[in-house]
Amino acid sequence: MTAHYDHLGRMGNNTIFPGANDNASGIAMLLQLGKHFAKKENQLEYSLILIAFAGEEAGLIGSKYYTENPLNELSKIKFLLNMDLLGTGDEGMMVVNATEFPNAFQTLDSINTQYHYLPKIGKRGKAANSDHYWFTEKGVPSFFCYTLGGITAYHDIYDIEKTLPLTKFESVHKLFISFLQSF
Ligand SMILES: [Zn+2]
Repeated sequence: MTAHYDHLGRMGNNTIFPGANDNASGIAMLLQLGKHFAKKENQLEYSLILIAFAGEEAGLIGSKYYTENPLNELSKIKFLLNMDLLGTGDEGMMVVNATEFPNAFQTLDSINTQYHYLPKIGKRGKAANSDHYWFTEKGVPSFFCYTLGGITAYHDIYDIEKTLPLTKFESVHKLFISFLQSF
């Protein structure tokens, strides 16, 4: 599981870009899932690696470095779930790489249909728009998931904690738990 913890930082002395949705929300999900699966009763049959990347906003630099200098064998990764922008969800969630890995998407979508977690899950093809990208290029099956709807603040000073709705945060958490259990 991956998420980036950097954002845009500052512009001058008075302007700060907090990055609540992009990507404190993804990091929060990463930590929540880690906490869940660390409990003995929730342990998976495989090991789970949590990676918080830096340098995403500067051009996917942290994840590029990792795939060139991995601490684990990339070929042994069953699946990589990259979480970036998970603070909304009233219009559902989008999955990048869905068309690349149709079986995994089918699993995710059918869990969602069964439990009614999100109104819909959209699918996209490949895109170099977050940290999953370098892993995809190295042959690691992966999804990049981001929620849809709610706020429009993005890469600006309005992406703040106070107005981040976290509409479907709990639903996405449950959906990811079931999805990770399916491997
Ligand atoms: Zn991001």
